[in-house]
Amino acid sequence: MKRKILVASTNPGKIGELRAMLDLDVEWVGLSDFPNVKEIKEDGETFAENARKKAIGYAKQTGLWTIADDSGLVVDALGGEPGVKSARFSGAKDKNKQLLDHKNMAKTLKLLEVTPKEKRTARFVCCLCLADPEKILIETEGKLEGVIAEKEMGTNGFGYDPIFFVPKLEKSVAQLTREEKNAISHRGSAIRKLKPQLGKLLKRH
Ligand code: IMP
Repeated sequence: MKRKILVASTNPGKIGELRAMLDLDVEWVGLSDFPNVKEIKEDGETFAENARKKAIGYAKQTGLWTIADDSGLVVDALGGEPGVKSARFSGAKDKNKQLLDHKNMAKTLKLLEVTPKEKRTARFVCCLCLADPEKILIETEGKLEGVIAEKEMGTNGFGYDPIFFVPKLEKSVAQLTREEKNAISHRGSAIRKLKPQLGKLLKRH
């Protein structure tokens, strides 16, 4: 029988991306398949802690192997901020995601107003955790190194993509196609690290 794995997300884009990239013989389910589970808060101090907390919390509630992720932007000149606060950095509570993204980017750019180019180094980080109800089974981390631009550039992607400049491609992440982004992104690299480990685990269970 196929192993059922819960992706701890209600975002169909995220679930689809994991399914496609992992390409394993698994029955994937999402949080929308479990309307009664209690939400696990992302209140940890690190991406890894949040991913672990969600993976174990949802695995305990459903009895299933569960994959959870946490990701965000780390800016060196801001002492690692926005970090785990990436989604809510500006403090605004707009329902409109694009407006919220714009406010988060505006705050980041303002804080870096007088920071010279060579000190604007940053990275996107993604931590993934697979757990069963008792323990962590696999943890991986992916990173994408870059520099915070001086203004928004490009319209693809989401979040901080328009201000995240990738020097080796001479483009912001929002100027990349979805395929170009997946090939280098923090999430893509965390998923590529997870795949062989999960493949091995599935063979043993
Ligand atoms: P979460 O892991 O989905 O909770 O993402 C947290 C926040 O980090 C998002 O709301 C974005 O602001 C930011 N973030 C994470 N990944 C990316 C990315 O690939 N591009 C731009 N922003 C990102």
